[in-house]
Amino acid sequence: IAFIANLPKAELHAHLNGSIPIATLQELARDFPVGDDQSDQVRVGLEKLQHPDGVGLEEIHDFFKLFPAIYALTATPEALRRATRGVLREFLEIDDSIGGPQCTYIELRTIPKSTGFMSRGEYARVVLDEIEKYPAEQAALIISVDRKMNESEMGEVVALAVSLKEEGRRVVGVDVCGNPLNGDMNHLERHIVKAKAAGLGVTLHIAETKDNPSAETLKLLSYEPNRLGHATFLDDEAKGIMLGSPDMCIEICLSSNLLCKTVPSLEDHHIGYYLERNHPVSICTDDILPFRNSLLGEYALLMAAPPFGLGLGEAEVRQIAEMSLRSRFGH
Ligand code: 5GP
Repeated sequence: IAFIANLPKAELHAHLNGSIPIATLQELARDFPVGDDQSDQVRVGLEKLQHPDGVGLEEIHDFFKLFPAIYALTATPEALRRATRGVLREFLEIDDSIGGPQCTYIELRTIPKSTGFMSRGEYARVVLDEIEKYPAEQAALIISVDRKMNESEMGEVVALAVSLKEEGRRVVGVDVCGNPLNGDMNHLERHIVKAKAAGLGVTLHIAETKDNPSAETLKLLSYEPNRLGHATFLDDEAKGIMLGSPDMCIEICLSSNLLCKTVPSLEDHHIGYYLERNHPVSICTDDILPFRNSLLGEYALLMAAPPFGLGLGEAEVRQIAEMSLRSRFGH
C-alpha cells in the first residue's frame, strides 16, 4: 500500500455527487429539513446509500435511481459547497494511516444543475470556488452534459463551460454522462465542436452497456474525443478507431463495472485488451459513495494476485499511473 500511496497519479473520472464521502453525506442528511420534501424516493435512496453493507445493485439501471436522493441533499449552495469540499479532501489530503493522498491530481466532473436554489451557472461557480482553493496542479473541473438533456440544454451547458474557461475559471473539459440509454447523441455534435474550439478537452461515456447501439458509439467516436469513459462494449470497428488514436485514454473504473454488473469478473475486464496493446488507460473510481471504493483500492486491484486482482507488477502499475498524468486535460 505504501508503493501505491506514494505513486503520483491522476483521478480523471470521478462524478462529484457520486463521490461524496459517506461521513459528509450523513452530515448533510442530518441537517436536511425533514418534512414534505423528503419524499419516499429520497428516504429510500438515503437508506440504501447509508446501509452498512453498501449499496446492492442488480444492474446498472438501479445505480442511476440513487441520484435523486443525493441531489435533494446538495440542492443549496451551502450543501453543494460542503459536498465539494468533502470530495476534494477525500482525494487530495494526506491520509496519515496510509502515508499519502488518494491522488496527486483530480479532474472532478459534475452536471451543473438548476436546483430551485441556484442556477446552473451559480452551481458551477460554487464547485469552482472550492476547486480553486487548491493549486492548478492538484484540481480542475470537467463540466458534464447529461445524456437526457435536449439539444438546447446541451448547448447551454457547453456554452457555460466555454464562458467559464474564457473568464479564467479552472474548467478544463466537458463530458457526457447519465443513464446510458437516454438521449440522442447526434444532438451533441455542434456543441462538442464549440467546446474543442475553446480549447476544452472532451471525454465521453461510451458503449457502457451492451444495449448501446454500435451506430451511436461510432457517432460519438466521430467527435474525436480526447478520452473515453468505460468503453466496455466497443465492437471491432470502434476498437479499430480507438487504437488508431494512440492518445485516446480510456478511463477505467474496475469496481464500478463489476458492481453495476456490466463486466462479470476482473479476468474478463476490457482493461486487459488495452494493456496488451499498450493503449493508454487511467484507473478511476467513478462514484466512491455508492461503490465504497477508493483510488488506492482500485490500484490495489491491479496488483493483487488473480482472481482478486490482475497480478500486475510495480513497473506496470507505475506506467499506468504515469499514463493517467499524461492524459490530464489541465496541463
Ligand atoms: P453529478 O454530475 O451530479 O455531480 O454526478 C452524478 C451524475 O453522474 C449521475 O446523475 C449520473 O448522471 C452521472 N454518472 C455517475 N456515474 C456514472 C456512470 O458510471 N456512468 C454514467 N453514464 N453516468 C454516471
